[in-house]
Amino acid sequence: MNEIPPFASLCAPIGPLEDGHGRTVRYIRLSVTDRCNLRCAYCRSGMETFIPHESVLRYEEMEQLVDMAIDMGVEKVRLTGGEPFARKGFVDFLERLRAAHPALDIRVTTNGTLLGPHIPALKSIGLNAVNLSLDTFDRAKFERITGRDLFPRVRESMDALLEAGIPLKLNAVAMRGFNDDELSAFIGYALAHPVDVRFIEFMPMGEGTRWTDACFWSATDILAAVREVVDIRPLSEEQRNGGPARLYALTGPDGPGLGRLGLITPLSNHFCAACNRLRITSDGALRTCLFDDREYRLRNALRHPRLGIRAVRRIVS
Ligand code: SAM
Repeated sequence: MNEIPPFASLCAPIGPLEDGHGRTVRYIRLSVTDRCNLRCAYCRSGMETFIPHESVLRYEEMEQLVDMAIDMGVEKVRLTGGEPFARKGFVDFLERLRAAHPALDIRVTTNGTLLGPHIPALKSIGLNAVNLSLDTFDRAKFERITGRDLFPRVRESMDALLEAGIPLKLNAVAMRGFNDDELSAFIGYALAHPVDVRFIEFMPMGEGTRWTDACFWSATDILAAVREVVDIRPLSEEQRNGGPARLYALTGPDGPGLGRLGLITPLSNHFCAACNRLRITSDGALRTCLFDDREYRLRNALRHPRLGIRAVRRIVS
């Protein structure tokens, strides 16, 4: 764990954000909270002991980090969690980010359960997109996997987002024995709505995530099953627009679909070469890779009276 760099190195010039492989980082994911209102059976979020409040970055500290990242070439910020809308003041934070950075691409990843009342505000902020996590279209299964009977709320929010013209992507964790029998529902949704419906391979993310070989549903198997339902055509790298998903256009019985299918394959096919993102946890740790537990603690430097954001820049660069 890297804490604070030597003082001398703080004086060197600072360039754009590059990782150890010479890739320029254009995209950061910032977790605004580790808390979540759902208890998804496969997820670590909300299951572990929570980070003490005083250790979680204040919004002003997150704003400083975003300002710094933009200064270093970052163009896109994704706010995630835990559940971002579960943290008080989240929409005000988005408003301040937008006011400070009119051209910034700001996206949110959410479970959609607390989103509804905020959609008009998100529209006026000019939120660039919402990624919404939804693993099933069945209300009883939704309650079983998340621990909460909130499917109708999520479904209403999806409609309201589209109505408001806020671009939407759906993310479903692909689990054999849980949602492999719902392929037609997911494909049907993508055919009828201008939404990328993306399956994420189930990742064994440590204790409590209940990952087993038997419930792993690989992208190859998903693709084979999709081909039995609709015609698909792979889209090019450019059409992926730097995202982690392999994308496919769909043609159903009534013609071309409005939306697309995406496959995110952290296990069967790493997307490291195309990865241009850094992650910052809600307590201010910088992580360079989803599969690497090493982290660089930024919070202590950020809060240090003589170090502050300049020292953080040095750690990051
Ligand atoms: N609460 C927000 C949400 O539900 O989108 C943001 C946080 S959630 C941890 C981010 C994404 O990680 C969700 O799409 C979730 O489904 C996915 N996820 C969590 N655990 C996973 C696992 N073991 N394998 C694959 N994806 C996982």
